[in-house]
Amino acid sequence: MASNQEPPQPNAYRARADVPPEPAPAGRPMATPLIELHGVAKDYVTEAVTVHALRQVDLIIRRGEFVAMVGQSGSGKSTMMNIIGCLDRPTRGRYVLDDLDVTFRSNDQRAVVRNRLIGFVFQGFNLLPRTTALENVELPLVYRGVGAAERRKRALEALGSVGLAERLHHTPNQLSGGQQQRVAIARALVTEPPLLLADEPTGNLDTRTSLEVLGLLQNLNEHKGITIVLVTHEPDIAACAKRVITMRDGRVKTDLINAVQHDAHRALAELPAVDEETAAEAAP
Ligand code: ADP
Ligand code: MG
Repeated sequence: MASNQEPPQPNAYRARADVPPEPAPAGRPMATPLIELHGVAKDYVTEAVTVHALRQVDLIIRRGEFVAMVGQSGSGKSTMMNIIGCLDRPTRGRYVLDDLDVTFRSNDQRAVVRNRLIGFVFQGFNLLPRTTALENVELPLVYRGVGAAERRKRALEALGSVGLAERLHHTPNQLSGGQQQRVAIARALVTEPPLLLADEPTGNLDTRTSLEVLGLLQNLNEHKGITIVLVTHEPDIAACAKRVITMRDGRVKTDLINAVQHDAHRALAELPAVDEETAAEAAP
């Protein structure tokens, strides 16, 4: 997606997110932490050098947050997502996910935690080719041993919730990029995890489609309470989150509440009608 738009202005952000939040309104308990990184560091040791991909990261993300992680290439965003996603382990420090210290758990135990708590969405969609949308979405339930009828029911619901009820039997190559990413989101959510991790989910999508996907993520966050952590290098995508963490050289450089969270659906409605314009230009 084009990144020629103005980055969010500093004054759009009102408060540091790493200081204790305001007390919850009466009658509503404050959301509990879902992700806790305590002094997390990650070194990659190669023959030639040791890369300090993360250095001493302290971070708490509470249930219901929608966090965008930004920063230059190589700043440690994917390393952080891999640790948060229990795909990799910190070299030093502790990682607590949903009150469970997963730092020293075995690979198998972390896989169990991952399957129970986390849905993943990737830039490249990672759908199985020659496999229908419905089958792709059913797959995580197959791994869980859910019976065929229940699988079908839940996959249908998930595809319905991403607006793809009409595309159940299409294979990935019969779907647009945006539709493929929506199938991937349905697949990530069919197990009803409380946490969705997305590394550059709109990296392969145009502006319009990116905003559609973001609108969907905002709905899931707002109405289903799913906690979302999303990596992006696009300021207009980050502006759709409630909190923006900027990484630099393996550290959290800034961590700010986004006081003017952009509404992706509204931004989409305000885009010029590209198709009509192009059509008009192409007309003799
Ligand atoms: P980002 O996602 O922000 O672009 P990464 O987390 O992928 O950054 O990388 C952080 C740093 O760690 C970079 O210097 C990168 O080259 C290095 N790095 C990432 N993965 C590996 C690896 N498997 N082996 C060695 N170095 C790595
Ligand atoms: Mg990356």
